Amino acid sequence: MRTKQQNAIILKRRQWLLIGLLMLIVFLSTASLHFIKEQSSRHQTQNKKKTVPVVTLNDKTAESGSIEQLVNKEHPLPSNYVPSDLVDLSLKSVRPVRMRKEAAAALTKMFDAASRDGITLSANSGYRSYADQKTIFDRHVQNMGEAKANAISSKPGESEHQTGLAVDLTCAELNGDLQETFANTSAGKWVAAHAQDYGYIIRFPKGSERITGYTYEPWHLRYIGVDLAKKVKKSGLCYEAYLNKYGKQAK
Ligand SMILES: [Zn+2]
Repeated sequence: MRTKQQNAIILKRRQWLLIGLLMLIVFLSTASLHFIKEQSSRHQTQNKKKTVPVVTLNDKTAESGSIEQLVNKEHPLPSNYVPSDLVDLSLKSVRPVRMRKEAAAALTKMFDAASRDGITLSANSGYRSYADQKTIFDRHVQNMGEAKANAISSKPGESEHQTGLAVDLTCAELNGDLQETFANTSAGKWVAAHAQDYGYIIRFPKGSERITGYTYEPWHLRYIGVDLAKKVKKSGLCYEAYLNKYGKQAK
């Protein structure tokens, strides 16, 4: 016969054993979940790499400072690249915005045309220097880690904003913010329908995330000139895919 004291000790031991067992189960399931996640994200990264087309660049798309220059994660700008013809934008904007002269003139035409259709557009961001981009990217990395930061933002040198040919647009409904819902606003719909007439394309379209390496950004426009913008729009392709298909042809 066990004494009451012995019974109590055995019960206590069993309790500890149970707690230990539970902790082991929790630890093992957390570890295996982490492992699965790691594996699938590695798999996705590999897939992402596979779908990036090899872009054949011509003189215009490869030339530094060219209106048609392709700038992305694989084709970065040098850290010391600063466009020589930046001008202050005299359009409605969230903050002072600078762009290259030709792109600024085209954007002015676009804002005027939108205004005639009863649409008020606003610029959120235009030219950003290599140093500006480094500050932005570092902040995103701190907040969300490098992988996610790289999908929604650019490392310095890899941003089109350094070309002075890219602009982020917004409208009053979004209080000047950059959100995917811009696509559903009357301003966003107008931009999607008319940007190419002023030489701009929506650079990171929906469905091209694995090629561009960026999530859908209905607000980010890139100036490439009217002729080319119309062709890219008509093709239904993102810029990389368009250049991959037609890039060898002389314009
Ligand atoms: Zn942008």
